[in-house]
Amino acid sequence: MRYVSTRGGGGELSLSDALLAGLAPDRGLFVPREVPRLGPSPGKDASLHQAAQWVLEPFFQGDALAPALGELLREAFTFGAAVVPTRQPGVGVLELFHGPTAAFKDFAARFLAAAFRRLLQGARRTTMLVATSGDTGSAVGAAFHRVPGVRVAILYPEGRVSQRQAHQLGSFGDNVHALVVKGTFDECQGLVKRALGDAALRAREPLASANSVSLGRLLPQMAYYARAALAHRGAGPLNFAVPTGNLGNAFACLLARAAGAPIGEVLLATNANRALADYAAGQGYAARPAVATLANAMDVGDASNFERLAWLRALPAGAQVLGEWVDDETIRARIAEGEARYGQVFCPHTACAIEAIERRRRAGDTRDWCAVATAHPAKFEGVVEPLVGHPVPLPAALGEMLARPSRAEPLANDDAALRAWLLA
Ligand SMILES: *Cc1c(COP(=O)(O)O)cnc(C)c1O
Repeated sequence: MRYVSTRGGGGELSLSDALLAGLAPDRGLFVPREVPRLGPSPGKDASLHQAAQWVLEPFFQGDALAPALGELLREAFTFGAAVVPTRQPGVGVLELFHGPTAAFKDFAARFLAAAFRRLLQGARRTTMLVATSGDTGSAVGAAFHRVPGVRVAILYPEGRVSQRQAHQLGSFGDNVHALVVKGTFDECQGLVKRALGDAALRAREPLASANSVSLGRLLPQMAYYARAALAHRGAGPLNFAVPTGNLGNAFACLLARAAGAPIGEVLLATNANRALADYAAGQGYAARPAVATLANAMDVGDASNFERLAWLRALPAGAQVLGEWVDDETIRARIAEGEARYGQVFCPHTACAIEAIERRRRAGDTRDWCAVATAHPAKFEGVVEPLVGHPVPLPAALGEMLARPSRAEPLANDDAALRAWLLA
């Protein structure tokens, strides 16, 4: 399988080269030259590793990493991704928060780290650049902590991540640096994108991307959708409501479906940053400045993976997609009644998916739905605990991380400052 840019320039690359490059030379995003067809299904009882192997193999075909795919999965996917039933008939929750930083990004960040450990052997020191609205940075920091030959620079917007998220970001030390920027997430992302697009800078200091635009983040996320869809025992295929910000996680679901995984509807559930929900509802895509919401990891005004969705939807098979946006008041309501109605405490992001499914139900949709739980509610205790009226116990790994000291360096919100930091 070869990879091309969504913008059509720059020729074709192998998967390994596309992983190392991060962004395509014309600043587009890498996509497979064509959507591959999956091989014979591993069946309803496939493990996460088996489902992952099945869905990833065609995307790795012919690449130097292909023989290591099984090893990468064993190294990266060391925790589960179960669909748990709820008290509402036909509504399950895909729990993606059992990794070290208690958010779904652990799957992809650890897979990317396992891949980079192999790809960078014997290379010059490389800096992984990552902009984060909260959870990406800690997942990438945890995954690359003490990986030889790699330095990690995490940029995050001051005051726009939860206290626990901020603490986590600065808690790694060693080769992992937290840089706090006075600005929005979109501005942090802009700084990273421009640095990655600066060929002269990259010649002096090798850079790589760990943002959700990286193929190494995108592809492994197909695994848990494939596994959940295969395991589903119901009248029709399983439909997914995915909390969405930069569209990395949800796009992986769409790509797995396009390749032939038995996935039904894909519903993009956004917070008040509604550009994607409006697009799914048939309006044009209009990026806007990000607004701050309770579901802060989705406070994205211009989804960095949108170009991939536009690419997929332009293919003959297209990609139907649904969307709903959810305001803060409704997020609060879904969290507050989560235990009574579902037997679950939801994080603010997951609450958006729950609300989206409830709207389907109210519109008469009786099919089986799966809400994707993107983070553990204990990561957002400031929002969640007052609403549910009791403390939410921390997962053990998160507790250990929060017990460590934490340190962040301020970084001015301009390209020259980041450049100077990288070259210092
Ligand atoms: C990152 C994140 C999201 C958004 O994921 P995208 O891939 O950017 O759409 C949703 N929920 C949580 C908890 C996150 O950390």
